[in-house]
Amino acid sequence: MHIAETGSALREILKNAPRPVVLVPTMGAFHPGHLSLMRRAREIAGPDGTVVVSIFVNPIQFDRASDLAAYPRPMASDLAACESAGVDLAFTPAADSMYFADRSVTVSETLLSRGLCGAARPGHFDGVCTVVLKLFLLTGCDASVFGEKDFQQLAVIRRMVRDLDVPVEIIPCPTIREADGLAMSSRNSRLTPEQRADAPRIRRALLAAAGLTSPAEIIASATASIEASPLSRIDYLSLVDAETLQPVTSLDRPSVLATAVFYGEVRLIDHVSIPKTSA
Ligand code: AMP
Repeated sequence: MHIAETGSALREILKNAPRPVVLVPTMGAFHPGHLSLMRRAREIAGPDGTVVVSIFVNPIQFDRASDLAAYPRPMASDLAACESAGVDLAFTPAADSMYFADRSVTVSETLLSRGLCGAARPGHFDGVCTVVLKLFLLTGCDASVFGEKDFQQLAVIRRMVRDLDVPVEIIPCPTIREADGLAMSSRNSRLTPEQRADAPRIRRALLAAAGLTSPAEIIASATASIEASPLSRIDYLSLVDAETLQPVTSLDRPSVLATAVFYGEVRLIDHVSIPKTSA
């Protein structure tokens, strides 16, 4: 496996790399969810194509300095995981090699990124779009793999690719969960044992509410189930159109029930899809 620490080193290694080049953008601290994306990338690349994994804790997508500082960075074990997943190239840039100190251009998505995580985290999706477009340009990838866990991120990236004619195929991957249903996340390791034991209620609350028949009932039920815990605090809980991510008041289109929940300082997200149930 090659390792590149700068954009120019990356370009040099990829100059004659066999196609397709398939990119998995990550912030590291790998768990089985990330490994499933790498496996999918290998399937798409085939035995002869090139799988690139970027490991970069992108400072411009964090709105809280404490969250950025606390983000785990187990680089040695991450590189070992890439190696054993059959990754061809790991890209591990430092922040100052990705961004000029006086950078002044940002990619901004202005509709899908307004609500949900975007409302609570101003500038987050600008940071995501900017780094993802830079990674696409640096690698010249043909395809890139994203987890459905971050479904708003996936929708925003798809919109960026559509609106800017970016020649990269976006490949979604299903959410990988712990045995008790909690979506795997690098942040789960920051939960106390008590918080960790409580956190699967998020998934249970969403699934139970998804079976109800009106948006008001769905939101009330999920809110009550999550708020029943004294350990957690809802950041947002919304029922939105699956494509536009705008709030819905009827179930006549596929929609998504999405939430972000704080356990102390740790913010967890999850969602369930709700198929169209009425005309
Ligand atoms: P991260 O490094 O956590 O920002 O995520 C890198 C990629 O892994 C993103 O495309 C995420 O959506 C994806 N991902 C994170 N957690 C999971 C999970 N539990 N299942 C599937 N994909 C995931």
